[in-house]
Amino acid sequence: MANIFEILGIILTVLFFILVLVLAITMLLILYSVKTKKVLFPKFILFVLDFLYNPLKLVTEKIGVNKGYIDMVSNDMRNFINYKSLSKIPFEDRIVLLPQCLRKRDCPARLDSIKGFQCTKCGRCGVGDIMKFCDEKNIKVFIVPGGSFVKKVIKLSRPKAIIGVGCHIELREASLVLEYLKVPGRGINLEKDGCIETKVNYEKVKKAIIISDD
Ligand code: SF4
Repeated sequence: MANIFEILGIILTVLFFILVLVLAITMLLILYSVKTKKVLFPKFILFVLDFLYNPLKLVTEKIGVNKGYIDMVSNDMRNFINYKSLSKIPFEDRIVLLPQCLRKRDCPARLDSIKGFQCTKCGRCGVGDIMKFCDEKNIKVFIVPGGSFVKKVIKLSRPKAIIGVGCHIELREASLVLEYLKVPGRGINLEKDGCIETKVNYEKVKKAIIISDD
């Protein structure tokens, strides 16, 4: 008769093979999405990426894959899943969150503890243009000085949807909070991250801001 250790060994082996199989299916689905730009089973992919986030990050970084790759795929999946809900939210119920690092070094914007950095639309960076774009659509834009400010803004302005710019890791963390709050969001990755004068594709940001079901 098999003893308890043998049974445990069999269970662990089976679990290990199931895990490998699930991972292999997930990777194939991600590769398929990248190649064809069509996403199959996004919720399944997201579930696996969330469930195995830390081990997957470790493995992908060890094999030389871009550090934020898992975060990037997670964000893409969340953007895909949220698209429909976001498109139904009226513009005036949306807010846009921009990181303060997009500003120029000599940015004249002053910091307000409630409203964030107050862009003067001086034209030195693309933020001013986004402000004008959103003003026309009655959408509030906040230039965020730090993570705690985001919580304050959400609490005070109670948006029904959020479009945010950030690095892969920040966006994934923010999207988990939004998921918890049941607020549809869309994250746009920085093209050049860092602490100062970062870059984003402003056209992509504009397109995300005006997603609608019309
Ligand atoms: S456009 Fe706005 S955010 Fe950009 S540098 Fe000028 S004041 Fe600062």
